[in-house]
Amino acid sequence: GPDLKVISTLSVGFDHLALDEIKKRGIRVGYTPDVLTDATAELSVALLLSACRRLPEAAEQVKSGGWTTWKPLWMCGYGLSDSTVGIIGLGRIGQAVARRLKPFGVRKFLYTGSGPKPETAAEFGAEFVPLTRLAEESDFVVVTCALTPATHGMCNKDFFGRMKKTSVFVNTSRGAVVNQEDLYDALANGQIAAAGLDVTTPEPLPTDHPLLSLQNCVILPHIGSATYATRSTMAVLAANNLLAGLRGEPMPHELKL
Ligand code: NDP
Repeated sequence: GPDLKVISTLSVGFDHLALDEIKKRGIRVGYTPDVLTDATAELSVALLLSACRRLPEAAEQVKSGGWTTWKPLWMCGYGLSDSTVGIIGLGRIGQAVARRLKPFGVRKFLYTGSGPKPETAAEFGAEFVPLTRLAEESDFVVVTCALTPATHGMCNKDFFGRMKKTSVFVNTSRGAVVNQEDLYDALANGQIAAAGLDVTTPEPLPTDHPLLSLQNCVILPHIGSATYATRSTMAVLAANNLLAGLRGEPMPHELKL
């Protein structure tokens, strides 16, 4: 209503807010960057490993009796050693993912975004490339960008068509960055090897969604920042943002609109 003065979101993403209207009404917005970076990066790595080494599928084989005699190529996947990793959005979370993946023996990091950031990229020896080249050369693509009009539907038929058949796609940003029909086709037709998604469109994903019928797609229920410690820190920060906003004081983390 017209009395609304302050919004405090328990998230770093703000794509769910009606920013034009908020700006028009002069409403202040608090959000929770930084404090969830480590937890989300950790989950991104867990999801990547789950997808490339087929962990849910393999665990299911143990339960269903599919685990029989040892076979050389059974349940094989793809490893990070000597790989090329492409990061879409080398922001706080993207950098934290790269930092965690580097010790796995990644040979080369590529990244894309609104422009090169040589100082940030130097830590990983990462090369700024156009999206098309990132798709073509990466063994692993990790999406950690914000959802904006420019990134909406960015991972589409053309993008997946350029990826290698042996590549793995991971999205922990927002579901709408991906065209899910195109991703389904790429996974079902063997155009790419596997995918790991922490975010989907819609959320929750309907239990009869076609993506859930695929063995090579690991889907989690948007749990990137879901550790007890992180959620508790986020909650305190969100409360302090709100109180500062109501008192007319500077917020610990205010979104600059
Ligand atoms: P940052 O603002 O630090 O990073 C966002 C990145 O997006 C920037 O590096 C930016 O690149 C990049 N970006 C913007 N436009 C484009 C583009 N057109 N192409 C490629 N990259 C682009 O945010 P965080 O790292 O803190 O968070 C990133 C996102 O992760 C959040 O917006 C949220 O949606 C999601 N998230 C998901 C969680 C989960 O539970 N799964 C938890 C927390 C966050 P540049 O600097 O070059 O503009």
